Amino acid sequence: MDNSCPQAEIVKPTGGGQATWWGWLLLVPFCAAFGLLAGWGAVQVAVVFSPLIVFPFLLGLLLGACLVATARMVEFAHRPTLAVAALVLSVSAVLTQHYLGYREACQKVEQESATILLAREKLGESVQARLPLKPAGFVDFMCQRAERGRVLSTAWGKWTAKGAAAWTTWGLDGLLVVGPCLGLVILGWRRPYCRECRSWYRTTQAGRLEPAMARRAAELVGLDLPDGAPAARFTLSGCAAGCGPLGFRVSWEGASGRTDPATVWLGDPKRTALADLLDEARRRAASDRSPAS
Ligand SMILES: [Zn+2]
Repeated sequence: MDNSCPQAEIVKPTGGGQATWWGWLLLVPFCAAFGLLAGWGAVQVAVVFSPLIVFPFLLGLLLGACLVATARMVEFAHRPTLAVAALVLSVSAVLTQHYLGYREACQKVEQESATILLAREKLGESVQARLPLKPAGFVDFMCQRAERGRVLSTAWGKWTAKGAAAWTTWGLDGLLVVGPCLGLVILGWRRPYCRECRSWYRTTQAGRLEPAMARRAAELVGLDLPDGAPAARFTLSGCAAGCGPLGFRVSWEGASGRTDPATVWLGDPKRTALADLLDEARRRAASDRSPAS
């Protein structure tokens, strides 16, 4: 079907919103803190479920979905801020997982040292065990871990990645979190946004139009109606204050099935005329449903 509609008044809302001080000063630090929490949660879950590739990918999707939901909730759409927030969120979660591994290793060394010192106190120098060395810092810990190697459990058996190979697998793991998170946020910000009242577009009405009303709606918005006088399914979307153009998304339901939806953007006076037409369709449908008196 030809979705072009030269007669329709197309005033598609521009995407993206304005930068705000709180976007940078609150949302980005919030994402850093949420990343810490997510990293901690991921470490807890990884104890029982951590398949290669799948686990970091799912974590990235989850983080991206959380950020998209937050942006919708606070009506925030500034794309550069959201991109930075997504990067901060995902990198924070990745680094937290490694840092918790470092903290755990330090605690283990401290516990082993305390046990050996206690044994020496009781049994004297006959205790031969040497005190384990604590990593000098986080980077030192990661270098030591890479030297020891990372054991990867795959469907084809276990494989130990050492040195550069270990660093590469950690890098890929990180990308598998950052990529899906950023990708989902980019998909999310493509939703129309009204810069006037600073709100995301939301569905305000949805329903079905009988063939006669569908034909009138098609004429009104300037869409070509396919052959067979079909009925239509539609959704209306608008911004919170109703100041932006109205989105009318429609697909035709004929004998040959349902067409791909087409969207037209309407400003006044067509949006008012369409609202009147949809009201009339609703009243007709209601009177058709009510029992004859
Ligand atoms: Zn608006």
